[in-house]
Amino acid sequence: MHPITNTLIVGAGPFGLGLAAYLQRRGYDYQLVGKPMEFWKEHMPQGMLLRSNANWYLDPDHKWTIDTFLRLHDPVRSPTAPISREQYIAYVDWFRQQARIPVVPAYVERLGYDTGLFTAELANGHTIQAQNVVVATGFEHFAYYPPELVALLPAGHFQHSCDAVTMSAYRNKRVLVIGGRQSAFESAALLREAGARHVHISYRHDTPRFEEADWSWVETIVEQMAGQPDWFSCLSTQQQQEYRHKLWAEGRLKLEPWLEKRINQPDVSLYPRTEVVWVNQQPDDSLRIGLNTGLHLDIDALILATGYQVNVARLPFLSDSIQTALKTQNGSPLLDHQFQSSITGLYFSSFAAGQSFGPFFGFTVGVRTAAQLIGQALVRTPV
Ligand SMILES: Cc1cc2nc3c(=O)[nH]c(=O)nc-3n(C[C@H](O)[C@H](O)[C@H](O)COP(=O)(O)OP(=O)(O)OC[C@H]3O[C@@H](n4cnc5c(N)ncnc54)[C@H](O)[C@@H]3O)c2cc1C
Repeated sequence: MHPITNTLIVGAGPFGLGLAAYLQRRGYDYQLVGKPMEFWKEHMPQGMLLRSNANWYLDPDHKWTIDTFLRLHDPVRSPTAPISREQYIAYVDWFRQQARIPVVPAYVERLGYDTGLFTAELANGHTIQAQNVVVATGFEHFAYYPPELVALLPAGHFQHSCDAVTMSAYRNKRVLVIGGRQSAFESAALLREAGARHVHISYRHDTPRFEEADWSWVETIVEQMAGQPDWFSCLSTQQQQEYRHKLWAEGRLKLEPWLEKRINQPDVSLYPRTEVVWVNQQPDDSLRIGLNTGLHLDIDALILATGYQVNVARLPFLSDSIQTALKTQNGSPLLDHQFQSSITGLYFSSFAAGQSFGPFFGFTVGVRTAAQLIGQALVRTPV
């Protein structure tokens, strides 16, 4: 027999760690399994700057904030400067140490459920049994590959932006980035700065404007949801759509102004309102890409900055019986007001919670509210 833990948290990214801090402070029995900040370390480009600011810290008890960390570790930094990926990873590392959060640095390979108990088989050969499980696996399994585009591309000749993170690998190459939002433009800037020969960006819409995104309204909403968790689910479908659109527009119709100079360069070409219509593989293994405008581009590498879409059917570790029992809508689990799914004791936070709690929960602004709501539910549940 294996010892039974009250709660297993799967995923040691911002959401998993924020919840762990809440439980740790309250002496609650839990185990956190996952490689700390693996998605940020392995699937976000080196040199990336965050769009979010220091208000989006992880500590639900407000002690270990990003501001405190930066004051201690980088006292000369301008408070208005964007936070880099490297600074953010260092902050989360420091936060984890301050909160004394123990982590089992492994992957859950299979999660099963039988008569009120979950069993997790880990890649390191160990097994954990738990009364509750919180899935906090974030973006990891949800990279979106547009099927109509992938159908045109020869296998092995493209990468999703989550796998194109070491920009020096593209030195001297002609690269086409497909996608026209912040991630596509920032990848293009980083590629150029790392020595790519030429970077092309093709996207189906107009070029977004360079203007700082305003997230302050999002912070207010998410904070008040800690006291009113059913706020989003009680909105009419039309109101929910309006909030989704508002957030989408804030993030997608704007590009951060610090990208403008880095993109307006002779070796970066923009192709707004274009689509790839044909692809020919050349004898030297390069690709000739035809756009719907009649133009063609000769390139050595292709990056799909085509975003992410929640689809829990793609979570490889959930057993068939969990997948079958889980009630979903548009690929997202349906959750109650405490982030609990249709399976008692199984919770989902972060990106996967967006259908029930609003799209804000795909960003770290939601970490503290999710930690409080899930944490309160767990602490209240009799064990
Ligand atoms: C290019 C890019 C830029 C972004 N910029 C920002 C930004 O500026 N600000 C912001 O707030 N958000 C940003 N985001 C969104 C950001 O990724 C999320 O807000 C945040 O990472 C969500 O945290 P999380 O803990 O849910 O998931 P993640 O950070 O994705 O962490 C989940 C963890 O789960 C682990 N995991 C997966 N499967 C298993 C398993 N089977 N067993 C154990 N562990 C597992 C993974 O290793 C991963 O480390 C950005 C996203 C992208 C792609």
